[in-house]
Amino acid sequence: MTEKIGLEQIEEFMDMLTGGELPEGILMPRQPQLSRGEAFSVIWFLQEHLRVLDDSIEMCGVCEELFDYHCGGFIVDGSDEPDDWHRDIGVTSEMLEKNDGYKFCSSECEYQHWAKVRGEGNCEQKQD
Ligand SMILES: [Zn+2]
Repeated sequence: MTEKIGLEQIEEFMDMLTGGELPEGILMPRQPQLSRGEAFSVIWFLQEHLRVLDDSIEMCGVCEELFDYHCGGFIVDGSDEPDDWHRDIGVTSEMLEKNDGYKFCSSECEYQHWAKVRGEGNCEQKQD
């Protein structure tokens, strides 16, 4: 019998890889101390190459929380045109193209990201 490995189990795995709390009854004398980014590379390999984990679990590029893409969140498609929400906050198609593949768990995180991208753009303009 195989039980589906979901978001909760992958979060446990993330905690194990990053030196966080271990599930009850698990003792590990050499627990890894990876960064969340490194740990997600391990998860990604298990998803995309070994296909043991569901590939709908993604890590937010802003807050680094895991989320199930089937239940929410947003992944930037660089070939898309900005929608009304994007246009309202000043996101251009060029910005979408440059941030292709960027992942967000929520619109709050996405908003933060675009605000930062716009901020960086302004700094470059000041050099004129
Ligand atoms: Zn987030």
